[in-house]
Amino acid sequence: MVLSKAASESDVSVHSTFASRYVRTSLPRFKMSENSIPKEAAYQIINDELMLDGNPRLNLASFVTTWMEPECDKLIMASVNKNYVDMDEYPVTTELQNRCVNMIAHLFNAPLGESEAAVGVGTVGSSEAIMLAGLAFKRKWQNRRKAEGKPWDKPNIVTGANVQVCWEKFARYFEVELKEVKLREDYFVMDPAKAVEMVDENTICVAAILGSTLNGEFEDVKLLNDLLVEKNKETGWDTPIHVDAASGGFIAPFLNPELEWDFRLPLVKSINVSGHKYGLVYAGIGWVIWRSKEDLPEELIFHINYLGADQPTFTLNFSKGSSQVIAQYYQLIRLGFEGYRNIMENCRENMLVLKDGLEKTGRFNIVSKDDGVPLVAFSLKDNRRHDEFEVSDMLRRFGWIVPAYTMPPDAQHVTVLRVVIREDFSRTLAERLVCDIKKVLHELDTLPAKITAKLAINGEEADKNVTLVTKKSDLETQREITTVWRKFVMEKKKMNGVC
Ligand SMILES: *Cc1c(COP(=O)(O)O)cnc(C)c1O
Repeated sequence: MVLSKAASESDVSVHSTFASRYVRTSLPRFKMSENSIPKEAAYQIINDELMLDGNPRLNLASFVTTWMEPECDKLIMASVNKNYVDMDEYPVTTELQNRCVNMIAHLFNAPLGESEAAVGVGTVGSSEAIMLAGLAFKRKWQNRRKAEGKPWDKPNIVTGANVQVCWEKFARYFEVELKEVKLREDYFVMDPAKAVEMVDENTICVAAILGSTLNGEFEDVKLLNDLLVEKNKETGWDTPIHVDAASGGFIAPFLNPELEWDFRLPLVKSINVSGHKYGLVYAGIGWVIWRSKEDLPEELIFHINYLGADQPTFTLNFSKGSSQVIAQYYQLIRLGFEGYRNIMENCRENMLVLKDGLEKTGRFNIVSKDDGVPLVAFSLKDNRRHDEFEVSDMLRRFGWIVPAYTMPPDAQHVTVLRVVIREDFSRTLAERLVCDIKKVLHELDTLPAKITAKLAINGEEADKNVTLVTKKSDLETQREITTVWRKFVMEKKKMNGVC
């Protein structure tokens, strides 16, 4: 039988996808198309366009897990069709999440009896976890103020200016004023003394970060706790602490077990951690743990009766996948304390290799700390001719994705490059990266003009810029360049995904 041309063309099971008409028609971008296309063609076309995304394993910008064992991938695939919220139907999945909550609460030294259930919940990530923790603090504070007959309409929260954007979201969405402790030229985390100074009767909590997103540094939660205990005693207030341990929560317990940052400190009432960062699960899971039942106001909890037991829920959304919860449980039992410690030790070792290699070039200042999150944040010692944004841009050509960014106020004239060391970043890759950074530096040295300086005065000649750069103070010039770069980078970002 001879098929008509049209019939044979649409039959991709007979013809190669690349011999079909689907590879020469443009895909809809705004409106759904009228007709179906064969599954093989749909797969091929989408798969091929996605090739132009960066390679996740080389995405050194992200803390989020990009590799898991194939056995865990299998469990994930087997549960992609399970809605987490159907607790009646999937009681085992619910049980696994509760076990994870218990294990993590113990890891954070929650004051619990041997078989006492911990108070906490699995979330989509630290962002949801922080919204929930923030809401609990806000409600507790409001309840107390109401009981005292005092105004309860102007809550605030004290953080460092280095907080992750989710805190700004929390503040805006839930109408809490964000009071930020400014950074300094050489100090990139929250100063506990300044934070405590900013606390007033309307402060719902002070949020400390275990592992600043900007340079991985652990904030001094112990000092914050001690200073706040003093202040609470003086004022009669009861200001608590939340620890945003998005990245550090799965590092400190293994590498710095003696560091007191968690529920060992009396004012720490809740902690969040990203399961998808050093909890070693793919994107989509976080955890929030409360010190005790008293720290989570009952009116925020919804109770679902499942199989006769009481299943309290406190989340922002309803349906979500189950895979990540199951994957987290896999990692906790598969690796155990020993496995997590070994992985974190390897990350720290490889971080040191990278740091050492960068220092040996003689061209960088390291602004991260050896005992924080395993990452290297570094600045060029001299970025007048060429700066960190150019280094980042040129590394892209080797496949590496290394972000460059400016610090928040008052350290905004400092630009850094940041490489996050994840489980799957081996020593070989660290050494290769150093090698490629050297190549980039060499190439930049041979380039005469500094494009940032050029941009800074709207495209006038490069030579004049060099004069401009030397006439002004370093600080002033750097600020100016930073502003222009920010604009340039924003424009570039807007172009992403647009053709
Ligand atoms: C990543 C991060 C967050 C946000 O976490 P998600 O899990 O991505 O929602 C919040 N705070 C800090 C300190 C982080 O590093």
